[in-house]
Amino acid sequence: MHDKRLYSPNQIRDILEQHGFNFSKALGQNFLIDGNIVRKICDAAGVDENTNVLEIGPGIGTLTEELAMNAKKVVAIELDERLKPILEETLRDFENVNVIYGDCLKLDLKEIIEREFNGERISVVANLPYYVTTPILEKLFENDLPIDSITVMVQREVAMRMTAQAGAKDYSSLSVFVRFYSEPKIEFKVPNTVFMPKPKVDSAVVKMELNKSYDVDKELFFRIVKAAFSKRRKTIINALSSYEGIDKDKQSIKEILYIADIDENRRAEDLTIEEYINLTKIWDMSLKVGLLGKKRLY
Ligand code: SAM
Repeated sequence: MHDKRLYSPNQIRDILEQHGFNFSKALGQNFLIDGNIVRKICDAAGVDENTNVLEIGPGIGTLTEELAMNAKKVVAIELDERLKPILEETLRDFENVNVIYGDCLKLDLKEIIEREFNGERISVVANLPYYVTTPILEKLFENDLPIDSITVMVQREVAMRMTAQAGAKDYSSLSVFVRFYSEPKIEFKVPNTVFMPKPKVDSAVVKMELNKSYDVDKELFFRIVKAAFSKRRKTIINALSSYEGIDKDKQSIKEILYIADIDENRRAEDLTIEEYINLTKIWDMSLKVGLLGKKRLY
């Protein structure tokens, strides 16, 4: 039975001192020191004895420990090899944990999931290194991995953008990106006082259920979204027709917007994901029937 818990600040300080470990700011090392938050993340992720968990950035293993106590198996990917002796000590009681050392952005996650979880479906749970939040999300969403949900702690301001709905102040291309792949929800907010060292910003835990997919040309969709948000305060017709790399034929774009039932004077930040999907389908069809001439969007 494992009874040693990691989240007392004194215990964490002792472990770090024993191993002569210094935090790396460059690697986003702000470690959790609050047992309540650790438990709440695990609960929000819905981890139980049937759950396979992929954790990114275990640090000294504070969240990993709680996950290991509740999950079927936990595989944690850690970039900083200096943490190896610490993790060997803190996680030694668990047979259902495997730590892989490497850069989550460079490793072949498909192969790791296949090998470690026999290709079974997984949940991702992490207190993310904030400097790479977006590239990590891109990697998790875009590689057709067998992921049911992603529950992550991120900077609060990023959490607001990830979950914003059309028309809201924080609605951005990141909101559309996240909603293209998932149903996102802020589970709870987290003050900066529960980390060591204390970061400047507050955080929030976001859960994304990967329960949807759109039948649309993905590349064209994201190019249109990027073009639209490149001038988010302009009208959609002006943003789309002035964007570098997009067909400049304003009259054709007007017609496409008309067919998609989108008022050309609306702005990028007011269009819902469904409207962007519909716009992409009509744009795609227009390219195929030659309405936009020979020029492709990409
Ligand atoms: N999970 C721990 C906790 O909650 O206390 C630590 C979280 S800390 C915010 C982020 C962790 O991610 C650090 O341990 C850092 O070394 C690791 N990390 C940073 N970049 C990474 C990357 N590209 N791949 C894997 N781990 C990374």
